[in-house]
Amino acid sequence: MRTFVYTANPARVIFGSGTIASLGDEAARLDAQRVLVLSTPEQKELAEHIAANLGERAAGTFAGATMHTPVQVTQEAMTVASDLKADAVLSVGGGSTTGLGKAIAFRTDLPQIVVPTTYAGSEATPILGETENGRKTTKSDPRILPEVIVYDVDLTLTLPVSLSVTSGINAMAHAVEALYATEANPVISLMARDGIAALARALPTIHADPQDRQARGDALYGAWICGVCLGSVGMALHHKLCHTLGGMFNLPHAPMHTAVLPHAVAYNAAAAPEAMQQLSLALGVPDPAIGLFDLARNLRATMALRDLGMPENGIEAAVSQAMSNAYANPRPLESQALADLLTRAFRGEAPA
Ligand code: NAD
Repeated sequence: MRTFVYTANPARVIFGSGTIASLGDEAARLDAQRVLVLSTPEQKELAEHIAANLGERAAGTFAGATMHTPVQVTQEAMTVASDLKADAVLSVGGGSTTGLGKAIAFRTDLPQIVVPTTYAGSEATPILGETENGRKTTKSDPRILPEVIVYDVDLTLTLPVSLSVTSGINAMAHAVEALYATEANPVISLMARDGIAALARALPTIHADPQDRQARGDALYGAWICGVCLGSVGMALHHKLCHTLGGMFNLPHAPMHTAVLPHAVAYNAAAAPEAMQQLSLALGVPDPAIGLFDLARNLRATMALRDLGMPENGIEAAVSQAMSNAYANPRPLESQALADLLTRAFRGEAPA
């Protein structure tokens, strides 16, 4: 008999096309009278459009969200929220904007509505990564978990193809590591398999036709359940390596995850046979590491970390930092094997 512990994260999820029309009702359900709409500068117009649709329930907008959730930006947004007497935050955008909403909610316990426009999956997790004085720290807290997620596939049609591909493979990484997590359980594993399969199906179609709504819907659905995986069980080598590389060399989030994932899977393959079998079935390929590498490369993702800005002399330092953090992983961490892994990823070679 299999024993397990499964804890569900509470959230209300609305999924479809044109669903941003329901945001006023969702704000009313939360009894929010003064909603502050957050976005990046690039998505300011969308934030203003949403605020206009909220009508009297909108308190205003703050379009200053940026990568890595700097505490200084959070403080600026908190001042705006306080001046406007906001009683809820609505984050529209990718993981960077969701991060800002979470950072505000962590400090104020204001309720959050998130309208995701990438496949980052942050909206489904109680996790917040923030940066201050060049240091990134991560925390998990129930206040961080958004109360409501409104997925509107229409908003994803503008997501550039290259970011759609890497953001989608970044989402798959959450589910891949959930399959071999220490806390793996049957509910999360079935979400993981379905999420991986949906994204593997959708991404080639989106690459060929970014306006394909069916594929966009599949990808967004996959991103959601992969995000649930990330928020429910612990991550392993792949995420720890990316956290290390991102912190040391400031590499772009989704492209870096895409380049590392096939190698992390190859590293763990022999130590996690059941997870690999599930992954093979979800991807429809005999070798999941090669399958993920081919999928990403065929969709023109950059597979060499050197092309994403990593310096060659950084490999040794990255290995020693990755080794110094104790964390659960199916295969024990071996410095030479990790150096080989990073060397292949650095050069963009196939996983071995
Ligand atoms: P992002 O939010 O930085 O967005 C990248 C750019 O794309 C931004 O300029 C944004 O405005 C724009 N954009 C987003 N959606 C668009 C659309 N549909 N059309 C046109 N432009 C669009 O990138 P991301 O990859 O979504 O998020 C990455 C961040 O999220 C990282 O900082 C990462 O650490 C964080 N993250 C956190 C968690 C968590 O659980 N805490 C999970 C995943 C990612």
